[in-house]
Amino acid sequence: MSFKELGLSENILKAINECGYTEPTPIQAQAIPHVLMTRDLVGLAQTGTGKTAGFTLPMIEILAGGRAKARMPRSLILEPTRELAAQVAENFDTYGKYTNLSKALLTGGTSLDEQIKKLDRGVDVLIATPGRLLDLFDRGRILLNDIKILVIDEADRMLDMGFIPDIEKIVSRLPPMRQTLLFSATMPPEIKVLTKKFLSNPREVSVAPPASTADTVEQFMVWTDHRKKYDVLGDIIRKEKVQNAFIFCNRKKDIAGLASWLNKKGFDAHPLHGDMVQSARTRTLEEFKEGKITLLVCSDVAARGLDIKGLSHVFNFDVPMNPDDYVHRIGRTGRAGMAGRAWMLATKDETKYVDAIEKRIKKPVPVATLAGEKEREREPKLKFQEDRKPPRHEQKFEKKIDAPQRSERKPDREDDGEGVVGFGSEMPSFFGKK
Ligand code: AMP
Repeated sequence: MSFKELGLSENILKAINECGYTEPTPIQAQAIPHVLMTRDLVGLAQTGTGKTAGFTLPMIEILAGGRAKARMPRSLILEPTRELAAQVAENFDTYGKYTNLSKALLTGGTSLDEQIKKLDRGVDVLIATPGRLLDLFDRGRILLNDIKILVIDEADRMLDMGFIPDIEKIVSRLPPMRQTLLFSATMPPEIKVLTKKFLSNPREVSVAPPASTADTVEQFMVWTDHRKKYDVLGDIIRKEKVQNAFIFCNRKKDIAGLASWLNKKGFDAHPLHGDMVQSARTRTLEEFKEGKITLLVCSDVAARGLDIKGLSHVFNFDVPMNPDDYVHRIGRTGRAGMAGRAWMLATKDETKYVDAIEKRIKKPVPVATLAGEKEREREPKLKFQEDRKPPRHEQKFEKKIDAPQRSERKPDREDDGEGVVGFGSEMPSFFGKK
């Protein structure tokens, strides 16, 4: 299947060619024909699958065939975060460079005046976060009466972020006769309800979630405790050949502290979270993309869907409470067939989240043991009764007392006696003696 066979015209094919894409990704091959036929569509796909081009390419095709630079915008793309909106806007510029279409990026944290000026000149495509769009609408600066295509992207994340009431408000201001596309990585009941309400007889397309495609990501986990987490992370980063990495924290308030600790230890780390002013967020992200920053300490929301090519590592400083977040996080690395490595630090009280992750990815996360941890844990091990099944985190260290090692773990959590996976013949000192 080629892009040409999908029914895209020359000026779009030329732009795609310049991107170096040789063939459509599965989500593009499935979605583009439906969108071109102006059908409503539900796409079950995450970032990294090429879904953005899956809707932007046919939208450009449809809009370029109509009246360009109309007074009122003809399409609206809703994104949960500013960064994602900016990324989609970049996609529009790239794929639409041989068309005459104009767009406005409407997100918080940037000048309202600039956005209003742009709107007053007339645009074809609005790419917006819900809050800013409603703000402009309520100020009477935007008319949505001519919207013919609506895209609700990352719907499940919109739900997590509490945007559904805003989305409902926005949709109630749109003409009922329109084409609606909804993309979501998962389909929780609330999103199902939304699709029933907002879409009419939609076609459904889906691609395998990264849980089944993350074969290019080598995963590791270390059991530790709260007091030692900083040092353990520092040790791992030192031992790994980290080119560039995301370090995920569960709590926004931990991000700045961890970034500053890492800097004190000589690492090049910067924070990225929603409470930073937009200019700082954009600058940090640009510098990270350009390779000027090595480590980005971030929250799920800030990093959601960011398309950073060739990320070598992902570190989970905390175990994500939602197993889907684990899949999203580690999906930031190992993209497009490139090898990536994902590490996770887990504490005793996070055992249930680890279990949920392993259930979600349908395999155990291989466990690494640190020498210091082993020594500290030796004592409680002796207290186990023969017939008493120790808690999970203790089972792990118990298996490792004599020969700390990690490798592919069997589902019954017995070690298979192989060496430390991922370090080749070189055993880092923090794994203890072989
Ligand atoms: P997305 O899932 O939309 O965030 O896209 C992930 C990455 O895939 C982006 O860097 C795109 O530039 C890239 N991409 C999209 N479509 C293709 C394609 N057909 N061939 C190769 N790369 C693609």
